[in-house]
Amino acid sequence: MPHDFPKLNAFPVFMKVEGEVVVIVGDGEEALAKARLLGQSSAALRIVAPDASQDLLDWISANHAAHISHVYARAHLAGATLVFAASGDEELDRRVVEDARALGISVNAVDRPELCDFFTPALVNRAPVAIAIGTEGAGPVLAQMIRARIDRMLSPSLGTLASLAVGFRDAAERLLPKGLPRRRFWREFFEGAPARAVAGGDVSRAHAAASAMLGNPERNFGHVALVGAGPGAEDLLTLRAQRLLMEADVILHDALVPEAVVAMGRRDAERIAVGKRKGCHSKSQSEINALLVELGREGKRVVRLKSGDPLVFGRAGEEMAALREAGISYEVVPGVTAAFAAAADFELPLTLRGVTSSMVFTTGHDLKGGSLPDWAKLAISGATVAVYMGRSVAAEVAGRLIAAGLSPDTAVAVVENASLQGCRRFHGTLADLPALEERHDLTGPVMTIIGDAVAGADFSRSQALAAVPSRQRVSEEAAP
Ligand code: SAH
Repeated sequence: MPHDFPKLNAFPVFMKVEGEVVVIVGDGEEALAKARLLGQSSAALRIVAPDASQDLLDWISANHAAHISHVYARAHLAGATLVFAASGDEELDRRVVEDARALGISVNAVDRPELCDFFTPALVNRAPVAIAIGTEGAGPVLAQMIRARIDRMLSPSLGTLASLAVGFRDAAERLLPKGLPRRRFWREFFEGAPARAVAGGDVSRAHAAASAMLGNPERNFGHVALVGAGPGAEDLLTLRAQRLLMEADVILHDALVPEAVVAMGRRDAERIAVGKRKGCHSKSQSEINALLVELGREGKRVVRLKSGDPLVFGRAGEEMAALREAGISYEVVPGVTAAFAAAADFELPLTLRGVTSSMVFTTGHDLKGGSLPDWAKLAISGATVAVYMGRSVAAEVAGRLIAAGLSPDTAVAVVENASLQGCRRFHGTLADLPALEERHDLTGPVMTIIGDAVAGADFSRSQALAAVPSRQRVSEEAAP
């Protein structure tokens, strides 16, 4: 349904300013703000500031702007394309406005909309791409908020990519029929292999990729991104992950990835839950590998969303091997791993000067067998240990570490649902850790952190891990 918007009283245009004189009148903050804004263009800035603040002086010399250190006079506006009255002094600003108008130059007066011929936008600069946000002076704070949002959405390398596109325009018009083939080329150019190469700082690879696309327009350019979704809170997703989600045709996600994160994808993107939650029906790892390859071959842009970081207990190694073998391009986007989220929720240092300087990411599931795994030796020599998937093997982990010589008094922190609402924290010692297995009230994912650095945590918001001695608990539960 088309909206019936009211008319704009200020219409946005992009004005050519390269080499043109733009005059700013003012000594302080406001003049500096305008200098910074206009300094993003190739205009020749002339700043009339007889009593310039130190910050403004520094800016002028760092940016090679022309500085007039005399009291303002109309002659200072000569030859200008635009004028900014930014003195903060109403009378002087008015004079500047009148002079500019008498000379036929458009003028802006800071914070005095009634005196302005034009407004300055909040600017997202990805030169040559620019996004200008205007509110007709109604909401500068709102404009900044919108600016920040758009800025996050756009890759920092978008400008470089846009400049590169200029060089391909003629060839694309010559070689590709108008309509779908050309649109497909540009879509792939701006979101596919060339965009990824530019984002990685490799412009010549981007050039080669775009040339290859022109040479073989029928090819399907599938791509798989193995993306870390973070520990659960949607705002712990990286900006890159968010951007890729918005571009994806298909999103494959694990059970631990919350709906709010998956929902950041386009509404028309296909979503496939591939499971991995104890007891639920889910695809096997080899089925997932095969599905990724198949989607890539179909030319789909796939986001494979994994909780936390994809390279930490995420079986990304197998998926990457399958993609590599099939010749499908892929990338890895890191995420905040559960151990970091749990440490943050507990405000506990993972390394601590003079106490511990190393850290182990491990899972309790490798404890079977007679010999102690290497990580246990590291724990004994003082590393902080983060145990993934450690709830059902908590007693085994504790028992083996104590038997191997780690003190039963070693501090332990346990976090359920780290970073999420309903996050719960527990603290105790290694001797208390077996109680974790009996806590059937813990239904969310659980992270266990063991080590002397844990003793430095904030325990004011956590419960004791073994609130009820474990033997007593068992007998209570066993009672009819
Ligand atoms: N790749 C993930 C780990 C996957 S293994 C990462 O980097 O975090 C799954 C285990 O991660 C869970 O059994 C649990 O131990 C831990 N985990 C994942 N999300 C968690 C969360 N929000 N809070 C606590 N532990 C979490």
